[in-house]
Amino acid sequence: MPLQNKHLAVVLQNTYLPFIFEEAEALGIKVTFFYNQEEVEPKHLKNVQNFIPIDLFHTPDKALEIIKAEHHKNPFDGIMTLYEPALEVVSQLTEELNLPGLSPFVISNCRNKQKMREVLKDNDLNTPYFKEVENTEELKNLSLPYPVVVKPSNGFSSQGVSRANNKKELIDSIEKVRRVNEEDLSKFTKNKTGMVIEQFIDGPEFAIETFSVEGEVYVLSIGYKGNSKGPFFEEGVYIAPAQLEENVWQSIAQEAARAANALGIDNGPAHIELRLDPAGKPYVIEIGARIGGSGISHYIVKESTGINYMELVFYYVLGLKPPVLKNERKRKKVVGNYIIPVQGHGIFKEIRGLEDVRRDTEVKRVIQFITKGTDILPYPHFSGYPGFILTTHESYSDCEQYYSYLDNKVKIVYKNKVNA
Ligand code: ADP
Ligand code: CA
Ligand code: CA
Ligand code: CA
Ligand code: CA
Repeated sequence: MPLQNKHLAVVLQNTYLPFIFEEAEALGIKVTFFYNQEEVEPKHLKNVQNFIPIDLFHTPDKALEIIKAEHHKNPFDGIMTLYEPALEVVSQLTEELNLPGLSPFVISNCRNKQKMREVLKDNDLNTPYFKEVENTEELKNLSLPYPVVVKPSNGFSSQGVSRANNKKELIDSIEKVRRVNEEDLSKFTKNKTGMVIEQFIDGPEFAIETFSVEGEVYVLSIGYKGNSKGPFFEEGVYIAPAQLEENVWQSIAQEAARAANALGIDNGPAHIELRLDPAGKPYVIEIGARIGGSGISHYIVKESTGINYMELVFYYVLGLKPPVLKNERKRKKVVGNYIIPVQGHGIFKEIRGLEDVRRDTEVKRVIQFITKGTDILPYPHFSGYPGFILTTHESYSDCEQYYSYLDNKVKIVYKNKVNA
């Protein structure tokens, strides 16, 4: 067991999604968890040896000092995060502490949507029209390929992302993004608050989970992510493996692998979102240089293919050579993440139907994130996902049928109001 007794530092983690800690424990890895000090100490995580609070976004310099001091006292073999806005700090640390990880240059290109588009375009990937704008003044001389999507340059979780079908809607969308940048994202992004306008790619969306080894990109899984037309892009379902003709699978896999290469993700995981246009041409929407969904992508890959994604990442991050991967497609089961829709807004009371759902044999885990009394804002603001229902099925159609059942079964109750 080469991972046994290695020491891993984890920087910020949604503790409702404990896959990273569970897999570390199963492999005998010791974990130091730098958790968000605004949250209660996550003592319930039995698989973590050492808990250290940090306030990464309010006092980043102090947080860096705390992490570095801990490393000197009790050295880590590696450090990682699954949280998009913490990627930059972690890459700075891996560089300073001489631990495995992608460089700050690579990470900043992945984190900034304008830079990401420029890199992909320079490397001849399929690229929609895109333009970074500061204000509505700049729109005067632009002729845009409507419909378009406007998004914060450094956003995450679809915050602020909105579709505009014409100039009037665009001006409205830009104002919305400006507000999301100012009110919701500024804490995470500091002065990096631009916005990007992109041509809307009208077709189904896929998530591609990859693992790179010295520049070779292995596509572990392609899953279906719905076909949202907007105007906002609330996450819906994630079902893997997607039902795809062989040639379509290949063209998606190839475009995704080329994107990871272009951005310099030569080692480790990437979570790639991609849409097919009406002609079937694949367009990368964005890349995260991490395991997606705070660990959901690990669940998807492991349950649907049998490949332990998190373990591969641990090998890399802890400075060991990962087991040899073959370019073959493994298939075990159809798996999915049903993301409970917010179904409205207001003061959250409860989610009805979950108790029954927990008993269904298809259901592996039910995770509820929001608690009674939370004020849920309407999109494009993002107040957190209500919950995830992780499932496995014998066939794709079984999964689809079960999700239609969930659409009717699982209802959010806001104060004084049951949502349809
Ligand atoms: P975030 O980092 O906030 O997740 P994304 O760029 O991934 O931002 O956008 C969120 C969602 O918005 C995507 O998953 C996709 O559904 C939709 N979207 C973003 N850009 C486009 C585009 N150019 N065409 C079609 N849909 C898009
Ligand atoms: Ca993102
Ligand atoms: Ca995204
Ligand atoms: Ca998405
Ligand atoms: Ca990104």
